[in-house]
Amino acid sequence: MPMNSALLIEGALVPASGGNTFATINPATETVLGRAADADADDMDRAIGAARAAFDDTDWSRDTALRVHCLRQLRDALNDEIEQLRSITVAEVGAPVSLTYGGQLQMPVDGLGYVADLAEAYAWTTDLGPAAPFGKPTGRTVVREPCGVVGAVTPWNFPHQINFAKLGPALAAGNAVVLKPAPDTPWCAAEVGRIIHDHTDFPPGVINIVTSGDHRVGAQLTEDPRVDLVSFTGSTATGRAVMVAASHTIKRVFLELGGKSAYVVLDDADLPAACASAAAGVAMHAGQGCAFTTRLLVPRARYDEAVEAASTAMSGIGFGDPTDPATLCGPLISARQRDRVEGYLKIALAEGGRFGCGGGRPVEPSSGFYIEPTVIAGLGNDARVAREEIFGPVLTVIAHDGDADAVRIANDSPYGLSGAVVGTDQDRVDWVASRLRTGTINVNGGVWYSPDAPFGGYKQSGIGREMGLAGFEEYLETKLIAKGVQ
Ligand code: NAD
Repeated sequence: MPMNSALLIEGALVPASGGNTFATINPATETVLGRAADADADDMDRAIGAARAAFDDTDWSRDTALRVHCLRQLRDALNDEIEQLRSITVAEVGAPVSLTYGGQLQMPVDGLGYVADLAEAYAWTTDLGPAAPFGKPTGRTVVREPCGVVGAVTPWNFPHQINFAKLGPALAAGNAVVLKPAPDTPWCAAEVGRIIHDHTDFPPGVINIVTSGDHRVGAQLTEDPRVDLVSFTGSTATGRAVMVAASHTIKRVFLELGGKSAYVVLDDADLPAACASAAAGVAMHAGQGCAFTTRLLVPRARYDEAVEAASTAMSGIGFGDPTDPATLCGPLISARQRDRVEGYLKIALAEGGRFGCGGGRPVEPSSGFYIEPTVIAGLGNDARVAREEIFGPVLTVIAHDGDADAVRIANDSPYGLSGAVVGTDQDRVDWVASRLRTGTINVNGGVWYSPDAPFGGYKQSGIGREMGLAGFEEYLETKLIAKGVQ
């Protein structure tokens, strides 16, 4: 797998200035795939300077036609090399190959076309019409302008989705960007840097991609006064640190954080089908999705039946080699993440829970960071495994006592990212959906993920929205020009 391991700074592919590299690991085999450039503070300083100059000293922010052209070029170039990107994504992320035809690769690449179209059609100015505030005749125009330099910091679980959901709208809006991808998935971003360099007309400095094994290089983006907006996706704990650091220079922050979403099964639903669907949703990509519905809320009278149905489905899905098209649940990203998930499984037992299936590392294969898809039963919503994000293939089944109780339990969480409701009576389903305090909800199997649909969280799941019109406007400032009329 020939791979780019350079940084993209000021339009050039360069090694880290200190000459350092760090290993990137295949989580399915624990083998070293190769090495990525390990940027330090000097490299990040140059990348921020390059972005600042590209924004301040060129026409990029005013030339919508150039931006639309470059974004369409990038989408097409990525599609031309999609098989290479697919191989990297499966190898570096441990992502099941089947998911790369959707949210893990193809849909985010196609989403660049959506933001290009949006920028082309967007009403950048709005005339508010004549008025005479304080008796002074005035013509007023609202102008939408890019924020300036965007620092984008991203995690490893869906690297292309999250990288492109930031790069696309930030660039379409006219900003210059410095992207700092996660240390676990540097190649996914570095290869995009190579494609930008080789096949697109983005002016130097408009996009900079800085891989590093050191989290402090990401923190630099949150502190540097030359950065106007930080767009961050990752854990709530890191999001809190980003917000604090950004407060010193009053940067705008856009945060996509953790989740502990509820899948609510009403008493008139097809319970076995609903439980099987909930199990599949959490086994997918070994549960490493912020919006996965990891709490299954079922009618108390049918609790045991629900645990059985979810466990049968989870065991049937199992886990496997991510290169196998039939695999839904691959490995976790790292030994550290597997240790964390195992820690939560021990906590579940210590708090009085039991496993409907799974419960730890499989004996085979002996390599790869696998965890058996696991159903936890016998605990309430106050258990730690019901309150904290595990980020593994682990579903906790909780009993509810009717629609209002299900809403209460679902909302009794520090998070508010996503959710699901299933039932037959549409009025009851709508009643529940309208009361869930979350950014997205799947009702009776509806799919909320799409480039034109806003995604983001309530409460400690984040601030702002990614994708859709709202996700584009996150990267814009609003200016009012008031002209005196003679
Ligand atoms: P993480 O918070 O550990 O790291 C995310 C990124 O932040 C990495 O690039 C890391 O290098 C960087 N970073 C670490 N410390 C930093 C600091 N002080 N300042 C600036 N940057 C810093 O998250 P992770 O383990 O890579 O990803 C998993 C988490 O991401 C989960 O909690 C998951 O829910 C969340 N996530 C949320 C969404 C969403 O859209 N809401 C999507 C995917 C993942």
